[in-house]
Amino acid sequence: MKITILGSGCAWGTPKAGCECSTCRSGTERKRFGLLVEAEGVKLLVDASPDLRSQLLGARLGVEGIDGLLLTHPHYDHICGLGEFRGAKTEVFGLRGVLHAAFEKSGFGYLVRGGYLKLRPMTAYRAATFRGFRITPIPLDHDFPSSGFVLEKSGKKVVIANDTAPNIPEKSLALMRGADLLLIDSWAEDMAAVKKAARLLYGDDSRFRLSELRHLIIPEAKALSAMLDARKAVAVHMTHTAAPQKELERRFGDAHFGIGYDGLALKA
Ligand SMILES: [Zn+2]
Ligand SMILES: [Zn+2]
Repeated sequence: MKITILGSGCAWGTPKAGCECSTCRSGTERKRFGLLVEAEGVKLLVDASPDLRSQLLGARLGVEGIDGLLLTHPHYDHICGLGEFRGAKTEVFGLRGVLHAAFEKSGFGYLVRGGYLKLRPMTAYRAATFRGFRITPIPLDHDFPSSGFVLEKSGKKVVIANDTAPNIPEKSLALMRGADLLLIDSWAEDMAAVKKAARLLYGDDSRFRLSELRHLIIPEAKALSAMLDARKAVAVHMTHTAAPQKELERRFGDAHFGIGYDGLALKA
């Protein structure tokens, strides 16, 4: 499998519009989250971010070329690119509740009625096979409904856990173990960067508790990756106050843990 990170950022993207923080002024760009997974001519997209049009332009790909779309959850930064799929013929995989929220509650149902998207509602832990891929949705620790995915093909395993806090169910952890590649939520490097984002949001950080963050910070992501014995883990979904790429690599990068960035292509 070839996995390309189309977007390594959180819901705001980096730079966050109007933000004057040091990372936003540094020239760092992190589009909203997305992955392109390719194997033997089949293309899967993971999540449809508000940046999808520019991500597709960058990948020289139209929605007509996307065979399957995997939706992790119906937050803004993961579904607002769905509108790009007009004219596509794509099958959409995700937990039943995720698809209901994305297409019935959020108003993208016209894409299904128009025949552009065909929904494949899934049940947690129940694998589907699609064009040679085995796709298993795994509940994580984020807002409900949401899931990550285990993707298996030709004896390789890729685990996608882009939005999660630390309390992942045991059954999911068991399926995440021993991945050839783990894409892991890494919202910011430390509490200082988290509080900086909270201050910019609320005016001060007094209301904010780390336990309220529905994401991992990088040291948690790195410890989890080691605990799960991932051959290679790559940080994704960084926020705008997280330090620029080089600094994150210097502080956290090693042979088993890398810092993702837009355009990074990985093999598994
Ligand atoms: Zn997100
Ligand atoms: Zn989310």
